[in-house]
Amino acid sequence: MLDFMKAFIKKHEYNYIRKHIYDLNNAFRGCVDINIIEVTKEYINEKILNIFTDLSEEEKELLDISKLDPLHIDKYLAELNEYVYGMPNITKEQISRLFKKEKKLKLPNLNVQDSKNVYLGWIDESIRKLYVVYNMNGKLIGMACRIRNYNSNHSQMCALCNHVGGENEVAVVSSICKTANTGEGAFRSIGFDLCLDSEKCNERIVAIEKLEKILKNVNNLE
Ligand SMILES: [Zn+2]
Repeated sequence: MLDFMKAFIKKHEYNYIRKHIYDLNNAFRGCVDINIIEVTKEYINEKILNIFTDLSEEEKELLDISKLDPLHIDKYLAELNEYVYGMPNITKEQISRLFKKEKKLKLPNLNVQDSKNVYLGWIDESIRKLYVVYNMNGKLIGMACRIRNYNSNHSQMCALCNHVGGENEVAVVSSICKTANTGEGAFRSIGFDLCLDSEKCNERIVAIEKLEKILKNVNNLE
């Protein structure tokens, strides 16, 4: 990592870049037309740069894949990863505050926090709940999701990373939405599909819009 540059790539942006570089590499297998290769590279390069605003010249240069040799993809991605940052570390107290209504809240293993995460997710298997914590514009928000049993042979698609898998990988969950209305019938919940393995989900997620939309909905924010 260069001294004068700091981490400027968010985890999901890194996942996006990696996904496109691997896609590009796959597309090139067996393609001998140098023009097609160059044009496609240029296109992917634009796509990657377009997800960022206010890049410095050095940052732009680092992200420039136009000269990337397919043989050096892994090395390049490892170098790029040094400029990636995940969500800030959080404390047990912060988590407890987020889930005040949860009785006997099982806390996550916070030692794994230094891994770069889009969100922090963990499961309390004894009560079949999956917890999610996310840093939205500097403010921590969370949701508790009940894992549903649905006995289906159908595959589900994770709402966050679009991974498709069977019920041991992607589960149907539901979360109770907070509401300003405390009257009778104010209860509202939403259902969606979510990866059970948050670590893997964090490696796949390339956009945060869906995650933020669900969290806003559950937390009654707008
Ligand atoms: Zn997922």
